[in-house]
Amino acid sequence: MTMTFPANFLIEIVYLIATALFVLSLMWLSAPTTARRGVLAGEVGMFLAIAGTLLERGIVEYHWIAIGLVLGAIIGVPLGMVQMTAVPQRTALSHAFGACCVTLVGTAEFYLRAPNVPKFTMAVLAMEVILGGLTFTGSLMAAGKLQEVLPQRPITYRGQNIVNLGFLAVAIAIAAVLVMHPEHRSLFPLIVGIPLIFGVLMIVPIGGADMPTVISLLNSYAGLSAAAMGFVLNSKLLIVAGALDGSSGFILSVIMSKAMNRSFSNVLFGAFGQVQTSAAGAIEARTVRSATAEEAAGILAAASKVVIIPGYGMAVAQAQHKVRELYDSLTKRGVDVSFGIHPVAGRMPGHMNVLLAEADIPYDRLLEMEDINSELPQTDVALIIGANDVTNPAARTDTTSPIYGMPILDVDKARTVMVIKRGMSPGFAGIDNPLYYLDKTLMLFGDAKAFVGDIVREISGGTHH
Ligand code: NAP
Repeated sequence: MTMTFPANFLIEIVYLIATALFVLSLMWLSAPTTARRGVLAGEVGMFLAIAGTLLERGIVEYHWIAIGLVLGAIIGVPLGMVQMTAVPQRTALSHAFGACCVTLVGTAEFYLRAPNVPKFTMAVLAMEVILGGLTFTGSLMAAGKLQEVLPQRPITYRGQNIVNLGFLAVAIAIAAVLVMHPEHRSLFPLIVGIPLIFGVLMIVPIGGADMPTVISLLNSYAGLSAAAMGFVLNSKLLIVAGALDGSSGFILSVIMSKAMNRSFSNVLFGAFGQVQTSAAGAIEARTVRSATAEEAAGILAAASKVVIIPGYGMAVAQAQHKVRELYDSLTKRGVDVSFGIHPVAGRMPGHMNVLLAEADIPYDRLLEMEDINSELPQTDVALIIGANDVTNPAARTDTTSPIYGMPILDVDKARTVMVIKRGMSPGFAGIDNPLYYLDKTLMLFGDAKAFVGDIVREISGGTHH
């Protein structure tokens, strides 16, 4: 007995430090200069949280925990080593695991306690398993769509939203019955099973293009279900960590929806990406002007202000280090080079920032959309590297375009536009880009890494003469 007080006190202190580290981690992660510290704080916080939990007196046997840790490490280590472009689906898988765990714990807690479950506990337990269940299957579906093991196309039918919401409503109604009568143990499987089905149905009508937004929303659900679990298990740490996870996921999905000019309900119920046969000039063959690396190098080296716009193609080609070389060789010649970063360029928030930081491009050269747009009219060359949708002027003018209203980088205002991509394939939204047919646009056809490498060679070749 005398041992208990200090041990419990110690655990509470450890939890408190872990909680503070989670909050600091999120704060530090919001700026590139402190992001590394943020990751470290998150890791140490999680280590302390796990260590504190393992010291709890409630634990009778450690061997199941040891098996769990080994299994988790076997799955987790390879998951941590995926390519950066696969991070969205990897994240979805993590949410699925977390949500599965929350649902299982909630189920165990119910059967351990029923029929003596106070109303409040039953209400949060129900919320925990409903959110956990739909997040589990929803995240698996989202990961499958992103990895293209499931069709990316949205699958829709009439009355689908009503059917889906009907499922959810039934689950909530059963949960309400259980709150009043927790002795009806046989009803419990329904509030786990129905959300599992709902999770699948919820993702079916959403196209691949909206998956990253949906994943951050699922992140938010996973966080909320963990916070609910915190109430059930009486763990303040879980409540705080779950609430942080829930709110940050929610804020992120709002930011992403805004950057694509989509409302939440539009993302969730709009079946985006369904009708993608854009009207404008799809049939008549329009001509583009293409140029060689040598010509591009000449234009770039003669410019005084260049803005580089990176996109998904730069990530796929892993061209960031070559881009750094290009930045160096142009800067050395006195050219003012900056980068225009669209909030949804690439396939996850901050994708371009991370890649350019990896190549040690100075942070202060990276300008957000609002800041770079006012500079583009004074820019000699806008060099687009594997970006497409985020530069599509149809978003400003073509009311029939699926991306109409999405804020874009106004690259067409620059004096010359150069676009590095392999061919005329569209980007994520699956639509043609009128930018390529402008008189001021030069197409540089090729792989981003190879082509930028060629330009760098031409420019440095030029300096030797
Ligand atoms: P994008 O519109 O998907 O276009 C990427 C372009 O890169 C393609 O047109 C492709 O053309 C080219 N490309 C691919 N591989 C290449 C390579 N190896 N070398 C050179 N070019 C290559 O990309 P984006 O402009 O970055 O726009 C992002 C899109 O993703 C937006 O529609 C956005 O709404 C969506 N999205 C982003 C997020 C996010 O968080 N960032 C979330 C949800 C949705 P070729 O095949 O002709 O080479």
